[in-house]
Amino acid sequence: MGGLASVTLGAAYPDRIEPVTVQVRGIFERLERELSTYRSDSAISLLADKAGVAPIAVSDDAYRVLNLGQRFGELSEGAFDITVAPLVRLWGFGRTPAPAGLPSEETIREQLKLVDYRRLVLEGRTAFLPVKGMAVDLGGIAKGYAVDRAFDFCRSAGIADFLIDLSGNIRVSGRPQWGEDWQIGVRDPFDRSRIIGKVSLQSGMALTTSGNYERFVEIAGQRYSHIIDPRTGYPATGTAGVTILCADATTADGLSTSFFVVGLKGAGKLLQKTPSADVLIVPDKYPIEIWLTPGFAKAFVPIPEFSKAVRLLYPSSP
Ligand code: AMP
Ligand code: MG
Repeated sequence: MGGLASVTLGAAYPDRIEPVTVQVRGIFERLERELSTYRSDSAISLLADKAGVAPIAVSDDAYRVLNLGQRFGELSEGAFDITVAPLVRLWGFGRTPAPAGLPSEETIREQLKLVDYRRLVLEGRTAFLPVKGMAVDLGGIAKGYAVDRAFDFCRSAGIADFLIDLSGNIRVSGRPQWGEDWQIGVRDPFDRSRIIGKVSLQSGMALTTSGNYERFVEIAGQRYSHIIDPRTGYPATGTAGVTILCADATTADGLSTSFFVVGLKGAGKLLQKTPSADVLIVPDKYPIEIWLTPGFAKAFVPIPEFSKAVRLLYPSSP
């Protein structure tokens, strides 16, 4: 799935780190084999190969992630769209190299016609894309899902205190040591070498960040983020970073990408529909502003330099 994975166990489990790491690695590798667009033999690649031809049988995990992907599509009214793959490719992410110049309006319009999560047909453990050229990209949700599966495994293995991190998709259980909470730094999207503040995580909670600094392409001297706005066909702009705090890593992952696309402007409306998630948004402008929901504010301590940059974010009235 790209990026780094780590498992941290509480101080009480010095002998279990080795076997647990092996198991968790196995879970991540298995899911990667099924869900990655980077592997030509994954179920997701086969789904694209068979687009417009025939449904393919998929595993329980693939079926669930596709289903959840559609749910986040509905929730975000299409800001999150797992069928965004043709646009991801067009902009030079995924397996394709960055284009030398900006894609033409015409090409973008053509590819946009292939993007619509509602057209993915999920039925009786099979998946089908009705039009040749359509494809799915689970990059916005699969890591969170994998973290939740690893979380379930660790709990079932009788471990009470642990932290799982799959490239910034984090979920914790228990505590690192008696009397302490798990503490996670949120990176400064404008200066990767430091953090903007720290989040204190209660047992079971998940924290995920989507940032424009993570992956981008440069076309004609301009940077473009790896998150595409499926409503326009262009990379999303206006947001530097989004961090979601909620009760499971799949939701945190799906929502981090969704809020990144809708930005501060659309956040109030999306928050109405996601009352159980807490959100932190850093708009892409200077000087830095850190917008967060009241629930996030309870868990977050900004670095002293940014204590005056914090603003509260509320669901907008319907
Ligand atoms: P994340 O880092 O979780 O925000 O996910 C970003 C990844 O999700 C990208 O690298 C793409 O693979 C995929 N992606 C890009 N734009 C979207 C979108 N609008 N909806 C769903 N997935 C997306
Ligand atoms: Mg995501």
